[in-house]
Amino acid sequence: MRAEVLSIGTELLLGEIVDTNSAWLSARLADAGWDVYWSGRVGDNLERVVEALELALRRSDIVVTSGGLGSTDDDLTRSAVARIVGEEPAIDPRLEAHLRDWFARANLAWQDLMLKQATRIPSAVSLPNRVGTAPGWLVPVRDRFIVTLPGPPRELQAMWIEQAEPRLPKAGGFLLRHSFKTWGIGEGRVFELLGALVKPANPSVATYAKRDGVHVRVAAKAANPVEAASLAGPVIEEVRERLAGSVWGEGEDTLVGQICEVLRGRGHRLSTVESITGGLIAHEITSVAGVSDVYAGGAVAYDPAVKVRIGVPSETVERFGVVSEETARAMAEACTAWFETEYAIATTGVAGPTDLEGKPPGTVWMAIRGPGGTAARRLASSSRSRAQIQERSTFAALGQLWRALNEGTA
Ligand code: ATP
Repeated sequence: MRAEVLSIGTELLLGEIVDTNSAWLSARLADAGWDVYWSGRVGDNLERVVEALELALRRSDIVVTSGGLGSTDDDLTRSAVARIVGEEPAIDPRLEAHLRDWFARANLAWQDLMLKQATRIPSAVSLPNRVGTAPGWLVPVRDRFIVTLPGPPRELQAMWIEQAEPRLPKAGGFLLRHSFKTWGIGEGRVFELLGALVKPANPSVATYAKRDGVHVRVAAKAANPVEAASLAGPVIEEVRERLAGSVWGEGEDTLVGQICEVLRGRGHRLSTVESITGGLIAHEITSVAGVSDVYAGGAVAYDPAVKVRIGVPSETVERFGVVSEETARAMAEACTAWFETEYAIATTGVAGPTDLEGKPPGTVWMAIRGPGGTAARRLASSSRSRAQIQERSTFAALGQLWRALNEGTA
């Protein structure tokens, strides 16, 4: 059974907002066993929304729309669906009463234009909106369905989970997904290691380059979870074996979570001193809950004088420069002393757009200090923007720490 998502709104086409609703809905539909073969965006234009809906209905059993349920003239999802089924929207007195009550309880002045949200076509089942005002519709079209959901993600998600999903037919399948997350090997190498395992068939194996390394996803579709597991099981084992040594996590694991687990197990703690990454590593670490027993803290030592103040010898900065292996090492060593931790991460580099000390943007030195010594690494990220260089450096440093912990190099 096929499902399709259609996001409605001109601001999506102009790139003013990112279509996160279709990502959320597609993942949710796929998890429930639907085949999601298409997902699209269309602007606030009645003819084009009708055209997009007609096309979607020709090829999919369920079409889920997002947005265009408000009260203004550009909110035309209801009119488009009404035109598809050849019906006229009319005010539903029960919906009107509910809306007026909502306004009264929220202590807001009633506006007549809100009546548009109380309209319904005879064949539509109204889907209550617990979080906002605009109800959705569930409309049977021959043996297919259109579901209209509001644009605000909180409203859309609550309505889909609580109102739409339970009323729809079951997809008649189950999708099992399992991912492996690697560090230190590129997508090409992963591809080589997996060989003929990478294929779009059932079970499928696919690779994705992400900011925290290359991920490999195994997916199996079957009638029920048990069948899906027996289909995927041997492939999951094979992938695990072939990628051994490069996998830092599986499923919902996070890189920081895995690093903290190793440190916790050893009774060691971590600190950070950042120049080029400006606190992004500290942010990444502290965005994971429950790390305070492992992460002592971090400093953003941007000015060379501050690097010296926290313990980097001034001769090192003067002799080798701020962006150098020696300064990165000295920063990491000073950091463990300052924060009294066994491990430290240090970063220094050129984010751009101009050169520094004759070094081009993208030149980054990072160092990991640990009980086994200090390991430093140079990263070159030419032709990237400032933000990309900073993000890449952040994850390279975390990946390097994960490596060092596993290989005992620091
Ligand atoms: P409202 O009643 O608030 O007008 P609506 O159903 O008419 O809701 P839109 O006007 O299309 O929805 O969008 C309202 C807001 O919802 C947008 O400004 C945006 O913040 C968010 N939104 C809409 N569509 C999407 C989408 N596809 N992905 C993420 N956010 C979205």
